[in-house]
Amino acid sequence: MIAQKRVFSGIQPSGRLHVGNYVGAMRKMISLQDEYYCIYGIVDYHAMTVRFDPKEMEESIFDCAVDYMAAGIDPTKSVLMVQSTVSQHTELAWILNTITPISWLLRVPTFKEKRQQNPDYVNMGLLDYPVLMASDIIVYKAEVVPVGDDQLPHLELTREIVRRFNSLFGYTFPEPKAMLGEVTRILGLDGNFKMSKSLDNCIYLDESKDEIWKKLSTAVTDVRRKRKTDPGNPEDCNIFTMHKAFSKKGDIDYCAHECCVAGIGCLDCKKILLENMYKELEPIQKKRHELSCNREHVYDILKQGQKRAEEIAVETMSDVHAKIGVKSFH
Ligand code: ADP
Repeated sequence: MIAQKRVFSGIQPSGRLHVGNYVGAMRKMISLQDEYYCIYGIVDYHAMTVRFDPKEMEESIFDCAVDYMAAGIDPTKSVLMVQSTVSQHTELAWILNTITPISWLLRVPTFKEKRQQNPDYVNMGLLDYPVLMASDIIVYKAEVVPVGDDQLPHLELTREIVRRFNSLFGYTFPEPKAMLGEVTRILGLDGNFKMSKSLDNCIYLDESKDEIWKKLSTAVTDVRRKRKTDPGNPEDCNIFTMHKAFSKKGDIDYCAHECCVAGIGCLDCKKILLENMYKELEPIQKKRHELSCNREHVYDILKQGQKRAEEIAVETMSDVHAKIGVKSFH
């Protein structure tokens, strides 16, 4: 049998998953499961780089596991694991830290953004986040990383770190490549910033149709379209981006045309989106409910995931230890 290429991707348990996570990363993650050996992480140590409540962490990890499975990550095909349960992630991150110049990290756009958003909480973990992310990926020697486009600078840094490691110590890791979905970024309801758990601008996967409508009906559209009688610019409208993610071609073309000629208003366009979006979210919500009632089953899956992930990570670390001249005694 030809060894399958490995895939790694992670989601932070820093709040409920939203449609940006689903469209930007999860759909692709789901679609790769048959072709690749996929390892999908609940990356809890990453979620600790901003202020967090330890009392909520356990529940957030559980919710994230449930969201993954409800959306279509199948634990009989993929490894579903929690980052902190496989200690090789942080062990390798330390080694990578020693070969990563600080200047590479200071220029990462998300570090600059987060530093601006939380000027009183700029910790080492925030700066070091991309090194831990590099480690998450290469501890499995993964070659493919399905992510939204906000992660591209991090992936580029991972590749730079891999090149440096390989050139210093001999070929050890393949250079992983990002794999983007069809819609690579969904903006928040503000129409300005990326939809993100850390900003209050999301449509969550578990929201009712009424809740989603409340949010959609006030969501920002093309700011230049002030009245229903003004023609709009679909390409400058986040609702249209969501149509591209959730609607079929007929509705996408109809909404684009009617927007351009001021045939329908933004609310009409949003109603069509609501129907199409909810059609996809409803079965996920049903599955989510079933899984949430079966905690033991979810924890069993995470335990199995830990075991399967650890087997690969241990093997990688023994290779790394040999390369850097640190003896393994086991
Ligand atoms: P968040 O920014 O909401 O905390 P994560 O950092 O946990 O999300 O990201 C998990 C995955 O979801 C990553 O692959 C990321 O690129 C993707 N993602 C997050 N937000 C969006 C978005 N608004 N649009 C597209 N993809 C996104």
